[in-house]
Amino acid sequence: MNTEGSILIACPQCNALNRVPPARLGDAPVCGKCGKPLFESHPLALDEASFHAHGERAQLPLLVDFWASWCGPCRTMAPQFELAAGQLEPFVRLGKVDTDAQPGLAGRFAIRSIPTLILLREGRELARRSGASSAGDIVRWAHQQLAA
Ligand code: ZN
Repeated sequence: MNTEGSILIACPQCNALNRVPPARLGDAPVCGKCGKPLFESHPLALDEASFHAHGERAQLPLLVDFWASWCGPCRTMAPQFELAAGQLEPFVRLGKVDTDAQPGLAGRFAIRSIPTLILLREGRELARRSGASSAGDIVRWAHQQLAA
């Protein structure tokens, strides 16, 4: 297979990096290592290892929801973020960081209020926004940032 121009996508199950040609992103690609789907229309719960794979090594943009279980607006936004995953995949990976369980990641991005959304590409922060958002707002905002 000609892999020229293909991009690195991290597996949501095993964090292995897979080379996928952009034109094949919509063809339900599976992981070459574990055989599981690379996209499931579902945000990933991220820890340090999976954040490294999806946010720094993979080449797909990563949209992260920094949240906590005690935060009312975070719980309100959770189903909206879930819906946004269905609309933004397979061109953007969506993940969630529980700021209580992952204080290292929350500290690294100097998260001061939650929910905060951060859009990254290969480890570089492209944009962030705070406060609960609807699925439509999340999708529009991500598209705007990636087009800029
Ligand atoms: Zn895998």
